[in-house]
Amino acid sequence: MLIATLKELFAEHGLKFTNQRYLVYRTMAAARDHPSAETVWRRVRGEAPAISLDTVYRTLAAFETRGLVARVPGGGDEGRFDGDATPHHHLVCLSCGAIEDFSMPGAGLADLPPEVSAWGRVRDAQVLVRGVCRRCLCQVENQQPDANQRSECR
Ligand SMILES: [Zn+2]
Ligand SMILES: [Zn+2]
Repeated sequence: MLIATLKELFAEHGLKFTNQRYLVYRTMAAARDHPSAETVWRRVRGEAPAISLDTVYRTLAAFETRGLVARVPGGGDEGRFDGDATPHHHLVCLSCGAIEDFSMPGAGLADLPPEVSAWGRVRDAQVLVRGVCRRCLCQVENQQPDANQRSECR
């Protein structure tokens, strides 16, 4: 994204353009792995060695409040962030912590039971699938002496 465009985007959201915000935003826009604040910090430090983890946290929080990044539900205590703030669904591995996106067009809102509409106005609904990813399953199964047990990792 061009710096001029980003300056406009920040201004629209009442954020002053700073180099640190720019780097955090750029890192999030490029990230597909739903990084934690600490991971973002490690990526940004190469270009901004003086940036503190606290600044990264605060920047992400400011972006989150303004809908520029999203916090992934189920991302654990450390919190995981998503450069794609549009509603979508997630697969969370409880073993390695990997978080992936998946899409399920038309699903979500249409499947909500009546008590949800009674509860209030729904903006979006996201599906959170938690389990163990294939990579982790294979790591365990490859240690099995019996090849017949290795079913789930193909
Ligand atoms: Zn995993
Ligand atoms: Zn996502």
